[in-house]
Amino acid sequence: MEYAALGNTGLEVSRFCFGTLPMGPLQSGLDSRECRRLLEAAWELGVNFFDTADLYQTYPHLEAALSRHPGAVVASKSYAHDARTMARDLERALRELGRDVVDIFLLHEQESVLTLSGHREALDCLLEQKARGRVRAVGVSTHVVEVVEAAGAMAELDVIHPLINLAGIGIQGGGRADMEAAIARAARAGKGVYTMKALAGGHLYGRAREALRYAAELTGVSAVAVGVKSVAELEVDIAWLLGYDPPARQVAAAAGQARSLLIEEWCRGCGACAASCSHRALSVEAGRARADLGKCVLCGYCAAACAQFCIKVV
Ligand code: SF4
Ligand code: SF4
Repeated sequence: MEYAALGNTGLEVSRFCFGTLPMGPLQSGLDSRECRRLLEAAWELGVNFFDTADLYQTYPHLEAALSRHPGAVVASKSYAHDARTMARDLERALRELGRDVVDIFLLHEQESVLTLSGHREALDCLLEQKARGRVRAVGVSTHVVEVVEAAGAMAELDVIHPLINLAGIGIQGGGRADMEAAIARAARAGKGVYTMKALAGGHLYGRAREALRYAAELTGVSAVAVGVKSVAELEVDIAWLLGYDPPARQVAAAAGQARSLLIEEWCRGCGACAASCSHRALSVEAGRARADLGKCVLCGYCAAACAQFCIKVV
């Protein structure tokens, strides 16, 4: 494994960051034994950086697997926009992760400069908690170029978690080159940058080796969060990210795990999922949700918006 300083945070992180979204109930829904095995395998392979979120419901798995490893760096995030909700979400993270401090806590999926200022109260709450030693670093996650640019200029933010990939799928408010430039600027300003969606939620599985190398070599990027749901996938993705070729049998074992968005027959067409998708990949037609898979990055966030449990990334 290779390690890198995460900007000016003082944290040293593995260049492969374990994304816990795919193992959780919004996507594969692995059982707790499988999750623990996967997280322990990652630790054994040298991964010390784990990405989660209040939304992902994976805190108990992280606690079970990492309680004996206080050196593990955990990043989480919350959609809270007021201080009370943010304080509640941070408390939940501390309690369910079994930790006295969360290394990194982010404002989740900031959509514009406007929403960034609309979350000021939640950000101030995090900064206060950082001053109290309960959070080490504070920042934002985003798919939007202008948010990376704005966050890069905010002295009070330590970390930025932007979406970027080889094909530019899912980047909003600009293209791949715009996001690359914004990331490089933010890193020069001392922000710790770790990216998401290097494989575009599965769209780049066919070019995974190339896509992971692209992500690893981006200027200003300390780590790349990659979601995995099997040990075989983990081993192959780490190898490709670090620039070496795993044995063919490992690649074969990891293959055939392409994902798609499943919308169940019992969908009622209420539209709540469509309203929750920042990529505008969902619409309601003839009383049923429909996905435009050309726009969908298979994040699975819409699953949390459906009270009928109709949507899943499978
Ligand atoms: S939220 Fe669920 S029930 Fe409503 S349209 Fe979407 S999938 Fe269908
Ligand atoms: S449709 Fe669902 S899985 Fe696809 S991008 Fe939108 S929120 Fe994510």
